[in-house]
Amino acid sequence: MYETLDLARARAETPGVNHVVHLNNAGAGLVPLPVLDVMTSYLRLESRVGPYEAAERSEGAVGNAHTALASLLNCSRQEVAILDSATRAWGMAMSSVPLQAGDRVIISAVEYGSNYLSLLHLTERLGVSLEVAPVDGNGLVDVAGLEAMLDERVRLIAMVHVPMHDALVNPVADIGRVSRRHGIPYLVDACQSVGQMPVDVAEIGCDLLVGTGRKFLRGPRGTGFLYVRQELAHKLVPAIVGLDGVEWLSGSYRLAPGARRFETWETNTAARIGLGVAVDYALGWGIERTYARMRRLAAGLRKDLFGMPGVVLHDRGREQCGTIALSFEGRGTFEVRNALKDAGVNTWVCLENAACVDMQQRGLSTLLRVSPHYYNSEQELERFCSVLEDILTGTRRERVLA
Ligand SMILES: *Cc1c(COP(=O)(O)O)cnc(C)c1O
Repeated sequence: MYETLDLARARAETPGVNHVVHLNNAGAGLVPLPVLDVMTSYLRLESRVGPYEAAERSEGAVGNAHTALASLLNCSRQEVAILDSATRAWGMAMSSVPLQAGDRVIISAVEYGSNYLSLLHLTERLGVSLEVAPVDGNGLVDVAGLEAMLDERVRLIAMVHVPMHDALVNPVADIGRVSRRHGIPYLVDACQSVGQMPVDVAEIGCDLLVGTGRKFLRGPRGTGFLYVRQELAHKLVPAIVGLDGVEWLSGSYRLAPGARRFETWETNTAARIGLGVAVDYALGWGIERTYARMRRLAAGLRKDLFGMPGVVLHDRGREQCGTIALSFEGRGTFEVRNALKDAGVNTWVCLENAACVDMQQRGLSTLLRVSPHYYNSEQELERFCSVLEDILTGTRRERVLA
């Protein structure tokens, strides 16, 4: 089944692979040609006929982003709002849930830094109590332990599906069943999972879910989205509304039904069109199939790294996904990352503030993150390993100096 993925085509449709070994897909993926083409030709159209006029002419392509996301997530178009980042989507969702002093919010230890900051801000402003769910030996949320924390003061459960610095995949569907049983609103951060593995909101049983376009979906930067379950939408009041988020009743307004109430009006139209094309492109390959290849690549790479002197592996999980987290004996992560970049290999350094609770608890201040995607070749991973080995043994430095 693995070999049914046409790697030659995937690479031919990814112009970036001719220039760089890109192992930073958890940061932002390389866009495929159809996304690049549709966005550049749309920008040209804007410059020729005028931006509003270009949008009028491209109504179908603009509207397709909601439709594509709905089929990706297994929901209806009305349940999807498109925003300019997942942080924005998450903040809009979070601030629409009614909270007051004494209410409790439960999060996962791997909460994303910006979102954690929003929550801290909320606890300081409103006197809400912020609590972290316990984890098991693999770093996964302990579902029974989470359930034991619940009482009538818990107003929201917010969980990260896959963190930005780790291979672990949290049991979001099991947590969904718990949240349903207790009738507590449930928000899932799927930024790292969407595009990487199947993400089905019905299967997860969440009320709200956020994702971003630029990472494993390989869409444009500056795009994010929010899923809002239809039955919950009417209870959520966004802190900010705009023309697209209301029905205007000459002088007064009614909040638009569904997720649309979270959208304002202005949008980067080229990016919105590109996002729709990126999602359709991912669906065209089949997420199950690309995920199978990515997991196989990551598992092989983990095995090679495990035996490499000076390398320490940190990523956890039961079902390990594509992201690999490393540190090095006697070498700083920034030093290694820069040397890799000089050799044409993209990786990234995750700082403690990006996944604050978890990295702090484990005493980790930085991690080198290696995140391949299905379009990476086995040869690229071999090249990464040999460059890394040279860096760690000092051969590379000598070569550069010579
Ligand atoms: C990247 C990321 C975010 C933030 O997404 P933006 O689109 O940059 O706002 C949130 N959570 C996780 C787990 C992420 O990896």
